[in-house]
Amino acid sequence: MDYSKLTSPRVVKALMREYEIRFKKRFGQNFLVDGNILSKIIASAELRADQYAVEIGTGLGTLTHALAQECRKVITFEIDHDLVQIFRENSSSENIHLIAGDALQYDWHQVLVEHSWQGERVSLVANLPYYLTSPLIMKALECGVGFDPIVVMVQREVADRIQAQPGTKDYGLLTLMVEYYADVEVVAKVPRTVFLPAPEVDSAVIKLIPRAPTVAVDREALFAVIKASFAQRRKTLKNNLKALTEQWGVTASSFERILAELGLPEGVRGEALSLAQFAELTRRLITEHQ
Ligand code: SAM
Repeated sequence: MDYSKLTSPRVVKALMREYEIRFKKRFGQNFLVDGNILSKIIASAELRADQYAVEIGTGLGTLTHALAQECRKVITFEIDHDLVQIFRENSSSENIHLIAGDALQYDWHQVLVEHSWQGERVSLVANLPYYLTSPLIMKALECGVGFDPIVVMVQREVADRIQAQPGTKDYGLLTLMVEYYADVEVVAKVPRTVFLPAPEVDSAVIKLIPRAPTVAVDREALFAVIKASFAQRRKTLKNNLKALTEQWGVTASSFERILAELGLPEGVRGEALSLAQFAELTRRLITEHQ
């Protein structure tokens, strides 16, 4: 099969007809049928010939083959057995390894090692299934592989959340978790019309460039504080953190003093705090507890 032709909606429709399969909404199947966006994704990943690439969601293999032309090895996950079968019947690329199954269930570091990876540069490049965007991004950042960079197509609303500023409605857990691990760039805003079938929302390609955290504090404690702070958005920080601070042995009056020392009003909500402020709050809570 000529994989460069899969950016044509006509070719994709013909292939689906030939194999008598339908797009499965439950797997977030919206196939990219736009050569320009495909080129932008590939260019922004700045791939090198000696590196690895990991893709989540092979689909019909459009992005997979574009990656395989640039990299030494591509590891691609696909959950849908119909698509796995089409891929296996049509693809003859020796540097593509397709893993049939749910990408979230795998240890990606181990999978890479099993495919002779010895710590070479490895990028994660994917047009993500939208029902799993946040867990897949968090796994990519936390799995210990050190993906550099992570270039992913996500729904526009998720791109907005990732880039949000404190005090806005989009700002929250995802914003802060991503900010902890990486710098973020928007590569392209993408209309829904470049997919087959078109999803109900517009999209964006974002690039996450991992770097050392900009705050120095125990990561687990910091994430526990951030998660609890956004448990119920309309509650104050004090109320959301009540159970955690009690567990850490910090009294209500100590908590109020800490807020005052940080220059924060008593009724402040989590969405008002920057990552640096969350880090400082966590540091003081830990110190209080010791
Ligand atoms: N890469 C293709 C493209 O660009 O046209 C397909 C992208 S489509 C948005 C997402 C793909 O992810 C679908 O092929 C879907 O079946 C697959 N998928 C969904 N959930 C998955 C999971 N948990 N693990 C692996 N693949 C998954």
